Amino acid sequence: MKITCVTSHVLQYDMPELLGYSQQYYNKRTAHLVEVETDEGVTGWGECFGPGNVALANKAIVETVIQPLIVGMDPMDRDVIWHKVYNLTRDHGQKGMPLQSLSGVDIALWDIAGKVAGLPISKLIGGRHRESVGVYGYGMMLRPEPVEELAARFVDEAAAIREMGFAATKMKIGLGAKEDLVLAAAVRRGVGDDFDFMADANHAYNTHDAFYVGRGLEELDAFWFEEPVAPEDHMGYAELRAGLKVNISGGEAEFSRWGWKALLEARALDIAQPEVCALGGITEYLRVLALCHAHFTPVVNHVWGSAIAVATNLQLLAAMPPLPGGLFPREPWLEFDTTDNKFRDNLLQEPLNIQDQVKANDGAVQIPAGPGLGVQPDRDFIAHYKIA
Ligand code: CA
Repeated sequence: MKITCVTSHVLQYDMPELLGYSQQYYNKRTAHLVEVETDEGVTGWGECFGPGNVALANKAIVETVIQPLIVGMDPMDRDVIWHKVYNLTRDHGQKGMPLQSLSGVDIALWDIAGKVAGLPISKLIGGRHRESVGVYGYGMMLRPEPVEELAARFVDEAAAIREMGFAATKMKIGLGAKEDLVLAAAVRRGVGDDFDFMADANHAYNTHDAFYVGRGLEELDAFWFEEPVAPEDHMGYAELRAGLKVNISGGEAEFSRWGWKALLEARALDIAQPEVCALGGITEYLRVLALCHAHFTPVVNHVWGSAIAVATNLQLLAAMPPLPGGLFPREPWLEFDTTDNKFRDNLLQEPLNIQDQVKANDGAVQIPAGPGLGVQPDRDFIAHYKIA
């Protein structure tokens, strides 16, 4: 079997409202899907992390840098392809957009391998440790409005996410250390005392301010404090981890086994959040997962994007071994965005219906059992939203 063509589909629509995180507000939803075709008619799908114009630049990397390197190769040779592409792009970026682009291609190759074998990706990896996984719903995005108004909104939104049946919830912070604690207190009021919530700063802080926020989060019994400082600041992470009781999480902006090796050796994380659509695809994710577990660091995958990214992560979460194991292990969660996202809800021929499953199954969702990713995108839907 040979690869004949690699195509990026960049989808976009205008969102119904302006949402934000600590770095920016945004009003467009983007998804970057990768399609790999073969001479035997088997087609695989993948997804690259990266919104807006980043997706357009990544499309150029996928189609004009990676495609010529791999057309004619056997799509079953995933590891050979990974190393060929990585080695020939190493001089131009060991992190960031070249790895995001390779990720989408690699995921599509795993989809092809699953379709050829007639098995879901979780079975190719080594089998399913679980048939369903709990889902945490994130929301409470920043909006350009006064903190009191935002706090009132967060009380209601947090309560609504709990009411929807999610296993836990996550909020954005990053308005400033004092303002953030007003928002976090609002979320605690909204969900009540017996429910996990997490706070995501998207690296808004230096270590000093992160300690202030972290101590406040501890008093509110938050479960984790995500990306408190810049991803390059491994020592800052390690200091926060040593000095705070709240779990320190991060890693979505880290790439490849070599980036993760440095992060883990710095003892920077209580909870690792690898992003499979960015760090190098499933092939590299499995090496990063092994490194995390070698450091006894639990993993809760970072999930962002369309139903292809969600389906990819469902396969990975099924195949993730318990750490450290036992009768009552803390199970991984699926991260799920509760804000408007047509690319997650309506992209597939048979939708995953995550929200309905969460409501009906006490916060959990089934892992698809079909070959490969176990899902098929709707080409008419793609054509409708495709901008490049
Ligand atoms: Ca995050």
